Amino acid sequence: LYYKLLEENRMLYNQVQDLKGNIRVYCRVRPFLSNQSDTKSTVDHIGENGNIMIINPHKQGKDARKIFSFNKVFGANTTQGEVFADTQPLIRSVMDGYNVCIFAYGQTGSGKTHTMSGPDIKTEETWGVNYRALNDLFNISKSRTSVLTYDISVQMIEIYNEQVRDLLVADGSNRRYPFQVQLCLVSVNCTEDVLELMKVGQGNRAVGATALNERSSRSHSVLTIHVQGKELVSGSIVRGCLHLVDLAGSERVDKSEATGERLKEAQHINRSLSALGDVIFALAQKSSHIPYRNSKLTQVLQDALGGQAKTLMFVHINPEINSFGETISTLKFAERVSSIELGAARANKETGEVRDLKDEISKLKSALESKE
Ligand code: ADP
Ligand code: MG
Repeated sequence: LYYKLLEENRMLYNQVQDLKGNIRVYCRVRPFLSNQSDTKSTVDHIGENGNIMIINPHKQGKDARKIFSFNKVFGANTTQGEVFADTQPLIRSVMDGYNVCIFAYGQTGSGKTHTMSGPDIKTEETWGVNYRALNDLFNISKSRTSVLTYDISVQMIEIYNEQVRDLLVADGSNRRYPFQVQLCLVSVNCTEDVLELMKVGQGNRAVGATALNERSSRSHSVLTIHVQGKELVSGSIVRGCLHLVDLAGSERVDKSEATGERLKEAQHINRSLSALGDVIFALAQKSSHIPYRNSKLTQVLQDALGGQAKTLMFVHINPEINSFGETISTLKFAERVSSIELGAARANKETGEVRDLKDEISKLKSALESKE
């Protein structure tokens, strides 16, 4: 009975995830920082159903307001725990063999690293999506030991100027992925193992302590968690992976100012972010040709974008008036990748199927708990 309920629970759970569509976009608004004195915001209003109204500081009246719609909008007061609560179901589907990509998009300083990693490893309440995800995956793995055994391993890379660097080996520069050298894949047993590895990765990332921040905003970093589960009775294998991607800053660089290295970086970033947008857009449109080969980032993530795979994009915006231009271009990018699937997700919400399935799951959950 236990096994049957567990199986049923998992199936329903994944059905709910399927109903919600394969591409989701959540918008998160960064709060004003404590050292900011002018706290006039471009965010006029956040609605309940994933709508956000932005106000143009240079215009008056009706023309000044524009509404964007996403699957969810998190206001400036949203906690890390609340953000994770809406991400967790997707992450859990990895344990059942789904591939999932979670992206953090936005201009430098908008809160991408805050969402993915958090400000401080030492305080658990402020942990970002990645540590919470790992904890969750290890907990699920433990709770299923009577029916499945899992192997969990991680990989960390950085993509800078279209070069892939393996962050888990000391001299990982210029490794050719995925055609020649296998990336370093490290088996882990608990979140602490991963924290240790992430320290190694960060260390390998640093070209010099002061350059780190600069550089991290101009490279994409990808933490990948591979999960392989073996069912004890049938011996069948389920494989899933989770990519957690902290993207390079999306800000446009003033062409008249940027020269040399800086211009080259900016061009690589613009190109790879557009390539990512194009891939997600093509997937949302169910296009027959998906242009994966236009950037290293989309090549590396190819197996986890499209098909049965699920994508969640967190788009981050700064509230300040002087970020208005970047905020609009960020929201336009996000709207482009979300608009089509959003329609489907909304329709499903109306039929109440998702709600019914959720009720079903909670019943199964209490049935399971009373058996334990
Ligand atoms: P990015 O990675 O997009 O460049 P960061 O995540 O480094 O931006 O955020 C920039 C600053 O804003 C950091 O000091 C960070 O701690 C702070 N910050 C970002 N988002 C939040 C938030 N939701 N709550 C509190 N502080 C935040
Ligand atoms: Mg960052």
